[in-house]
Amino acid sequence: MSEKNKIYIIDVTDRDGVQTSRICLSKLQKTMLNIYLNEMGIFQSEFGFPLTRHETNYLNANLELAKKGILSPIRLEGWLRATRDDVKNSLKLVPQLKHMNLSISTSDQMILHKFKGKLDHQSVIKEMAEAVKEATERGAESIGVNAEDASRTRIEYLIEFAQAAKKAGADRIRYCDTLGCDTPFTIYERIKLLAEAVGIPIEVHCHNDLGLVVANSIAGAKAANDAGCDAYINTCVNGMGERAGNADLVSVILALKYGSGMQDYILDERVNLKNAWKICKYASYAFGVPIPINQPGVGANAFAHESGIHADGALKDRRNYELYDYEELGRGEPEIIETGRKITAGEYSGIKGFRNVYEKLEVVFKDDAEATEVLELVRYANVHNQEPLIDEELKFIAKNPDIARKIFTMVP
Ligand SMILES: [Zn+2]
Repeated sequence: MSEKNKIYIIDVTDRDGVQTSRICLSKLQKTMLNIYLNEMGIFQSEFGFPLTRHETNYLNANLELAKKGILSPIRLEGWLRATRDDVKNSLKLVPQLKHMNLSISTSDQMILHKFKGKLDHQSVIKEMAEAVKEATERGAESIGVNAEDASRTRIEYLIEFAQAAKKAGADRIRYCDTLGCDTPFTIYERIKLLAEAVGIPIEVHCHNDLGLVVANSIAGAKAANDAGCDAYINTCVNGMGERAGNADLVSVILALKYGSGMQDYILDERVNLKNAWKICKYASYAFGVPIPINQPGVGANAFAHESGIHADGALKDRRNYELYDYEELGRGEPEIIETGRKITAGEYSGIKGFRNVYEKLEVVFKDDAEATEVLELVRYANVHNQEPLIDEELKFIAKNPDIARKIFTMVP
């Protein structure tokens, strides 16, 4: 393994997470997740679909936040199909988009039974290469090429596909275990072969249909590093994602930090877990999906001990029964809940109650006009989120009223 090879995190909650059946996030909630991911030192957020019209204002507004340094240094990357037209049209709608992942299916199953004669193996490679060239010519700064269903793709063809992507100018290949059929053994072997043959950084995108998602992600990243290439792991907060979900962000980071034998592998040094508690709680609230009691790191029982031997052992020395510290995950602070009168800000708020809410947040408005403007935005934000706004959302709106306005604006 080369000393310099690292493992980076690309979180895809704002893309794979939100495309999950029966759950969704508002554009403000997606924005907040980007802010929290940036605070956690995550390398890149796959922040949405540049060709989906209701995303346009959100995507452009988030790129503006990047320009202002609020969403920096995190990279914001859009997911699109690997066709020339999709690249062109995406850049018409989202002209500042600099990072892209271009996706096309590579397995016999999908080429035969999804494209149904429209594309064969050679034209899949041609389409992808043309899309990569188009993106490069139009100023893309980084391009990942997604091999959808890579885990069921013949390895010789996958290598040929990846070589063509590299030649066309792609920076990474995303190995997608789209159906979650890999095991740690198969994904290790296949990614090792792929990375050795092509010499290109590998993105590992796994699904949890067999309950192996974190193990597969770690095994895949290890294989890329062992082959002398950088690795990128795709995650979702709380393991959201299609069907049984994607790799849970916090579990992946914990496995890389504390997994036996993983100490020789270098996780991107910027990643920190001190926001883990905050981001997981927020995503749970925003998605409306509770955190299971036994979720690694952030579940209610992750640091709870009851049986005699365990409680005694944990009290004597936490290392007897705790692999890592709760403080590292931002846990341990009491959460204060108002049990008396509480004024809230929402879609039908008036100026008096609204002022009371912001005074408690220690946000000062320069005059009545500014307060009225922010009040109006908060009303819209509540309609937009369809649930009570949290303090950090209220502060975000007050600090970035123009951006907030853009985020809420959708014209069908
Ligand atoms: Zn996926």
